[in-house]
Amino acid sequence: MIPKCAWCNKQSDDLKEITVLSTGLPASNRRKISYSVCPEHEHRLRRFYDRVRRYAILFVSLMIIGIFGVVMPSVFYNNVWSGYLFIMSFESMGLVLVIFPFCAPETMAMMGVAKSIRIARIMGGAFFAVGAFVFILALLYR
Ligand SMILES: [Zn+2]
Repeated sequence: MIPKCAWCNKQSDDLKEITVLSTGLPASNRRKISYSVCPEHEHRLRRFYDRVRRYAILFVSLMIIGIFGVVMPSVFYNNVWSGYLFIMSFESMGLVLVIFPFCAPETMAMMGVAKSIRIARIMGGAFFAVGAFVFILALLYR
């Protein structure tokens, strides 16, 4: 089997073997993972994992807050503010995904990191668009 580049997912015989420190939550769980990558994509892959390690805790925290904010209004559905909380959480989760386009490791391994970043950004953008749409509806039919 011809190895694939971890960044662009293209098969090539001219790949470089590199080791990158894993995200590790908590940080003590970090370990070295080896990737095959095109020589020209090594820098991008390393920079991406640097970002993941730096912002993983912030990303996970913001997502948990976001999910909490989406779920809570359904518990207190009769509260006036619950609809706005729902919309705000949707918007913020969308923004978080656009700024920190982190996918599950399985997704990144399957389609390559470059494509998984695009998918995370598209999802984030879709979340944001849905939130904005609902917000406009809420203003119109108040
Ligand atoms: Zn590549």
